[in-house]
Amino acid sequence: MFYSKEQFKEEFNRRLAVENGDKTESTAYHVLGKMVCEEVMLEWEKQQIANQNSGDKQLYYLSIEFLLGRLLGQNLHNLGAYNLVEEALGELGYKLAEIEELEQEPGLGNGGLGRLAACFLDSLASLGLPGHGCGIRYRGGLFTQHFVKGFQVETPTDWIKEGQSLEVRRDDLALDIPFYGETHMTVEEEGVRTELKNAVWVKAVPYDMPIVGAQGGTINTLRLWQAEMSEQPQPAELGHLMNELETAKISDRLYPDDALDSGKLLRLKQQYFLCSASIRTILETRNFDIEELPEKVAIQINDTHPALSVPELMRILMDDYELDWDKAWSLTTRTISYTNHTILEEAMEKWESRLLRQLLPRVYQIIEEIDRRFRMEWESKELDEQAVHKLSIMDEGVVKMAVLAVVGSYKVNGVAKLHTEILKKREMKELNEYFPHKFHNKTNGITHRRWLLGANPELSTLITENIGPEWIQQPAQLSELGYLADSRPFLESFQAIKKLKKEHLIHHLERAHNTIVDPDSIFDIHIKRIHGYKRQLMNILHVQQLYKRIKSDSNYRPYPRTFLFGGKSAPSYHFAKQVIKLINTVAERVNNDPIARRHLHVVFVEDYNVGHAQYMIPAADISEQISTASKEASGTGNMKFMMNGALTLGTYDGANVEIFDAVGEENAFVFGMSSEEVMRFEHDGSYDPKDIIDRDPLIREAIEELSSGEWSDGPHHADFIVRQLTEGGDPFFVLKDLADYARTHERVLAAYEHPVEWAGMCVRNIAASGIFSSDRTIQQYSEDVWGLSKVPTN
Ligand SMILES: *Cc1c(COP(=O)(O)O)cnc(C)c1O
Repeated sequence: MFYSKEQFKEEFNRRLAVENGDKTESTAYHVLGKMVCEEVMLEWEKQQIANQNSGDKQLYYLSIEFLLGRLLGQNLHNLGAYNLVEEALGELGYKLAEIEELEQEPGLGNGGLGRLAACFLDSLASLGLPGHGCGIRYRGGLFTQHFVKGFQVETPTDWIKEGQSLEVRRDDLALDIPFYGETHMTVEEEGVRTELKNAVWVKAVPYDMPIVGAQGGTINTLRLWQAEMSEQPQPAELGHLMNELETAKISDRLYPDDALDSGKLLRLKQQYFLCSASIRTILETRNFDIEELPEKVAIQINDTHPALSVPELMRILMDDYELDWDKAWSLTTRTISYTNHTILEEAMEKWESRLLRQLLPRVYQIIEEIDRRFRMEWESKELDEQAVHKLSIMDEGVVKMAVLAVVGSYKVNGVAKLHTEILKKREMKELNEYFPHKFHNKTNGITHRRWLLGANPELSTLITENIGPEWIQQPAQLSELGYLADSRPFLESFQAIKKLKKEHLIHHLERAHNTIVDPDSIFDIHIKRIHGYKRQLMNILHVQQLYKRIKSDSNYRPYPRTFLFGGKSAPSYHFAKQVIKLINTVAERVNNDPIARRHLHVVFVEDYNVGHAQYMIPAADISEQISTASKEASGTGNMKFMMNGALTLGTYDGANVEIFDAVGEENAFVFGMSSEEVMRFEHDGSYDPKDIIDRDPLIREAIEELSSGEWSDGPHHADFIVRQLTEGGDPFFVLKDLADYARTHERVLAAYEHPVEWAGMCVRNIAASGIFSSDRTIQQYSEDVWGLSKVPTN
């Protein structure tokens, strides 16, 4: 693909000249963007037509979030043109890496769930499978995070304003989506027909983005919907419900809540908007008989946010295609499958029946009927109260979206072995017994193209030089590195690259944050959303203890460590925001102490996002994965670190368990309670943090210091945290695991004294990380759930 280097330079210069000879990086960025765009468009169109004509089954991945990260570099890599362009631009006096930084990343997601969707799109296209994304084109992506006096302050991010070169507005495919209205039934000869009257319409306009697969792959489509005023006549008395302002709100901003159920009317509108537009576009552009739907289309719903797809597909099949209930139900439940992402109670979506009935009367009626029929099936069996509760779609005035999604899908999966077991044995035990073959596991993955080849080209080159390039197509081949884990020269090269990546990160931090970090210190990194269960609090309490020890014990002079944090809190999540403040307060004190700063450095990177992650992960020595066991469904950050040769310091939770299995516990730092212990404590309520505070003088001291205001500037910022840890019952078992966590850090220090052995452990991690490529995950989904075949290449 692309031109030769000379041709590229000529064409690039010609276009620059058209831009009045302006040679700034910004112009170079736009020129390059256009060139990539044109390169992609022609192939993309051909591919779309080929997909239409082939009649092969297509997958549609519905997700309320896609956290894509920057795309220019990814596209150049996947086109196989990165090196050529980098060299050509270099000869013209530009640095490609610097040009890439000018792209504003489309932050259309909060964290893991949205990033997973993005990794999946990359794997689908690179494996040559016909799988397309459907989402919302939020005008404002995730907020930008600033720290003001140590507190998180949010400002809106307008990613679209910066201009995205790779999207195409498709007015020809715009649709009108009905909200509100009333249902009307008419009895006809063939049966009862229902239709929605007096609906208020919203126009859904698709913006398509090409998803370019790596060499030999295909080009798929990410279709993002934008809400606009409809030209349909609106009912006089209801039209104001979807005036220009109300309409625009639907795709105005991403909900900035991660793992919190934000049961708001606008959120419900967004969910329905996504489901209805996506399903309609699938059906209206089809070239097969509607009865063949399950053979031609697979719809995967990423968590419950798109679960209204179930009743919406039913509605369209019955009301528009005039199929009867049984036929429509059979087609729906052979087409849709569902991925569960959480068992956290506060993240389980429930919609008030009252709200649904008002906003989506026909859809609500169908949900009632799904519930009624499902109830009839099991009512004859004598179930206990618990089972009835767990099998009810509608319960106490709410619709439980997870149950609706399970009942309406042919397959339901968890995202790591442990998570799927917990789903099957506890959270959804009754549903699993009722549908014995529906539940299965698909452990998450990450695209090694972005997270290793893209973020760490130096390490990638080293790997290829030693084991050949096969691992790029087949990441399981990374296992070949296992033979090099004792090879001195290889380990030395690895160490040199780790040092280099630390320097790159330091340089990045100096530019972005004005912070200077010691490249010889241990880089201990904790980056992810700030959340109680992810336990950033435990990390910072430990740092506090270290500080105290350095201050009080002049013999304790440990090897220098830099503790790096990054992550955003949901704006409404008070506890998480107090944790951010505490980390910043501790950082301020530790970093300014003349003695402590020689041993400890705390850096909280502002506005954590994909771009920062790509700098931070390759530089890490230690990957902090310390969630309360049973709470983190999978995690994917843990996989990115492992693949870049960082050692996991983690609990037996989510995919950590599989990481430890793959690499061996001797090549990681494992600590803390098991998920069984956590769940037993939760069940019998016997955990009392006061016992620990009474028994452990170090912990008692830490709590006393927090209470005394020693770790807050001005008012007692830490009071809320203290209450959560004491009277609050410490729901995330921070104090319970803290001592073990501190001991484990001592083991880390001891291990780091042996650099060669340490590097060997890192290399064993890289060697074992191949199974965490999302190519493996997608292959499994394709074989077990979707039944896709490779698109023909021309
Ligand atoms: C991978 C990733 C996440 C998910 O991290 P976890 O540690 O799995 O929670 C969140 N945000 C960004 C920007 C990521 O790249």
